[in-house]
Amino acid sequence: MALLDTLMLARSDVDRCAERRGDEEWITSLLADERSRVTCVNGGGAPISSDDGTVRLRSRSVLETDARPQDLSFLGIDDDDVAWFAEHVPDRDCHPDLEWGELRTIGSLLDDRDAGLLVTAVALDNWRANHQRCPKCGALTLPKQAGWSRRCAGCDSQHFPRTDPAVIVLVRDDEDCALLGRQGRWQEGWFSTLAGFVDPGESAEAAVRREVQEESGVIIGDAVDDVEYLGSQPWPFPASLMLGYHARAVGTDIVVDGVEIAEARWFSREELVRECEEGTVRLPPDISIARRLIERWYGGELPGDWSRPLGAKR
Ligand SMILES: [Zn+2]
Repeated sequence: MALLDTLMLARSDVDRCAERRGDEEWITSLLADERSRVTCVNGGGAPISSDDGTVRLRSRSVLETDARPQDLSFLGIDDDDVAWFAEHVPDRDCHPDLEWGELRTIGSLLDDRDAGLLVTAVALDNWRANHQRCPKCGALTLPKQAGWSRRCAGCDSQHFPRTDPAVIVLVRDDEDCALLGRQGRWQEGWFSTLAGFVDPGESAEAAVRREVQEESGVIIGDAVDDVEYLGSQPWPFPASLMLGYHARAVGTDIVVDGVEIAEARWFSREELVRECEEGTVRLPPDISIARRLIERWYGGELPGDWSRPLGAKR
């Protein structure tokens, strides 16, 4: 099975050391080590530097921060044996003089280490922001395991970060044309692969078939290899894991609801590259798994994306 080439937000060379998060003595020793680094995180972004044209996460020694231990989450150990922590800050006013970067925007510009650190920090920050109270009894929850679980102060239940699986799929027909759709809230000319969340009690493959039919009316074949898994990447906006597929349709008739999906079209390779060059079709940016699924089908890079003006180099 051929997986997609490295996906921008699936990169990381940080060891999460998941088995040691609960070792309070070890975490305390890391918090007393001046080599340990802290980067702030708030919502989908973090302070960055880009002075020499290279975008990096800003960080400081753990000894230079006055953060409370409960506001720090352990991210892992990097290749230089340095421990990294995220400091969850309530707003960005605490560092008004620093430039902040959004993971969605800068994720493809960071190196592997910083990309891995930031995607994890953003995922934890989003989970933490939405789980201050216990879903069972409503009492406050407190962080445990260096930020990787929360315990309810009322009923003592334990809660872990959640990830919501979603499928994203490029559908091909018998002529090897690709099915792309435009969501109702998108600008004219923006096209991407179809996608949707996996329902509770549903397999990912069943979700591929259901979502494609719901959004486009197109039926996916029922043979096992009509739905081919190609790779995944985290998409923590706020908590998704995107599972990428190619799938084979048994027909080409399209029926869209006109609301969630405004239009869907079959593209040949020649049509898609021509319309991308002319700017009448714009595809998702490099950071998305959607673009990789489209370019894998196309057989190479395609010009232009939503985030750049026409004619700008990728
Ligand atoms: Zn509770």
